[in-house]
Amino acid sequence: MRETLDFLLFDWLKAGELTARERFAEHSAETFSAVLDTCEKIAREKFAPFNRLADTQEPHFDGERVHLPQATHDATLAYAESGMLAAAQDYDVGGMQLPCVIEMAGNAFFSKASVATGGYAMLTSGNASLLMAHGTPLQREVFAKNEFAGRWFGTMCLSEPQAGSSLSDIATRAELEDESDVLGPRYRLTGNKMWISGGEHEITENIIHLVLAKVPGPDGKLIPGTKGISLFIVPKKLVNERAELTGERNDVSLAGLNHKLGYRGTTNCLLNFGEGRFTPGGRKGAIGYLVGKPGEGLRAMFHMMNEARIGVGLGAVMLGYAGYEASLDYAKQRPQGRPMTAAGKDAASPQRPIIEHADVRRMLLAQKSYVEGGLALELYCARLVDELATGDDKASTQALLDVLIPIAKSWPSEWCLESNSLAIQVLGGYGYTRDFPVEQYWRDQRLNMIHEGTHGIQALDLLGRKVVQQGGASLAALAARVQQTIERAMQTDWAPQANQLAAALAQVGGATKKAWSTGEPEEALANAVPYLQAFGHTVLAWLWLDVALAVAADTDFAHGKRAAARYFFAYELPKIGAWLDVVARREPLCRDIKTEYF
Ligand SMILES: Cc1cc2nc3c(=O)[nH]c(=O)nc-3n(C[C@H](O)[C@H](O)[C@H](O)COP(=O)(O)OP(=O)(O)OC[C@H]3O[C@@H](n4cnc5c(N)ncnc54)[C@H](O)[C@@H]3O)c2cc1C
Repeated sequence: MRETLDFLLFDWLKAGELTARERFAEHSAETFSAVLDTCEKIAREKFAPFNRLADTQEPHFDGERVHLPQATHDATLAYAESGMLAAAQDYDVGGMQLPCVIEMAGNAFFSKASVATGGYAMLTSGNASLLMAHGTPLQREVFAKNEFAGRWFGTMCLSEPQAGSSLSDIATRAELEDESDVLGPRYRLTGNKMWISGGEHEITENIIHLVLAKVPGPDGKLIPGTKGISLFIVPKKLVNERAELTGERNDVSLAGLNHKLGYRGTTNCLLNFGEGRFTPGGRKGAIGYLVGKPGEGLRAMFHMMNEARIGVGLGAVMLGYAGYEASLDYAKQRPQGRPMTAAGKDAASPQRPIIEHADVRRMLLAQKSYVEGGLALELYCARLVDELATGDDKASTQALLDVLIPIAKSWPSEWCLESNSLAIQVLGGYGYTRDFPVEQYWRDQRLNMIHEGTHGIQALDLLGRKVVQQGGASLAALAARVQQTIERAMQTDWAPQANQLAAALAQVGGATKKAWSTGEPEEALANAVPYLQAFGHTVLAWLWLDVALAVAADTDFAHGKRAAARYFFAYELPKIGAWLDVVARREPLCRDIKTEYF
């Protein structure tokens, strides 16, 4: 994987050129590589050996405390000591001022080694970065800085038992207590937050929850919709303005842990806020400090959305990668079956390794095309985030990133899950046992289509918003980039694939228009997921063509990349026809079938 990562980063995306920009001027290709080396080493030594342990020794709640394997403590603290929690932050807050694309590439090693163990750090980094963008100077100093230093970890508390996809229906309530607290306007929160990753543990001395809650209107009622949703810092243990623990416990308590299919190493919690288990300041109610303005909580929470979604997509890719490498290794060693010749099989001849069977190669090539293509997609998007922050052409970068983000999140969640399924298949019966790692990768992976916006919600975002916004500006920005690749490919022996891609792009454009031709959202969006699938496959075909053009050498590495690209065009891209057909004719079946007919 390292060779592919380096190739994509430095040869294909020219990440080294970022050092010409002021923000990254103190870096060089060598410092970028050194960061990757450090991440690779910590992941190999502190994360990978304990991935199975984190799964089998699931977090356990004894009614008072949550217990985790010691290895999880050691791994997460090693991560914190590496400085990666603040990798992209300014030097003056203790950061490394790394480009997003290098930060993401470094984190890829941890996701591959043990995605669930890495969860605590990823959440903390996201939480603190959000506070850097929206917090007051003191909130940054007290909360964000201590999170970046690894002294405290953080969470994101959006979902509630009755409100997951539809955050406008959250019911956690925040009542103003003191407008002028130094840590920010102080509120008392009551409500329940469901599915909170990293919501309870004792890895660090404190946990800083970022919580969405509604401030009631003048009539005391919660305002319907997303207006009125505000964002609060709710520390598990209260702290003062010098970032010292006051010794008082906030009114946040763990109602219970969720017992999950996978991702078991990350605690997942139902948290009760303000139920009165603790009484800070002598009364019930969880103390929370407002971040930003009232009513702007969702906007602040989604400020880091691009990075968060690329992070989920990259995690999905790396789980796929882990399965691919494990099954490749197995396929090279497992003898089974003999060559079939016109004269039949020679039972006396030695068996061949299963990698020599065309069908096993098909499964490996499919995985290779999904995981390496997925890696290209995520790094490309991360590079766009850097372009947005430090480049010149912000408008077209923004337009392109907008339309790619639902794909960055969803495509690997679906296709690297398929990849993990194929990895199990390559191992046959052994793949289905817990004696080999591939079943865990599949279980861990299954989360990715659910969290950070479900598959269905991402599809609605793509077809309902992103491709139609500003008169289709995002789709046009993507088409322009795809066209550039097509033009370059037309001059090479990739011309047939270039033509195929041009036809696919036209088909996506045509289906988009037909889906919206009646202007009825319910009609257009009934087939949003098939649209997402076709769109994603078209994007991946484009990236594979672009990558194929960048490998010129006559090496096994280069031949492998070209084979995976050819596989994608031969076996995957043709699938879009079926997906787009139902979109274009606004197939009403799923929308119209009556509930009673099921
Ligand atoms: C392991 C795990 C970790 C998580 N970590 C966190 C966390 O740290 N913080 C946090 O706040 N949340 C977290 N979540 C919550 C996660 O974001 C939600 O589960 C997710 O948003 C879906 O919400 P839901 O589970 O209520 O499902 P629902 O919203 O009820 O969705 C159920 C199904 O209905 C579909 N659906 C819903 N609405 C629509 C619609 N309008 N149109 C079409 N289809 C629709 C969905 O796509 C889905 O397939 C986590 C979840 C899990 C499982």
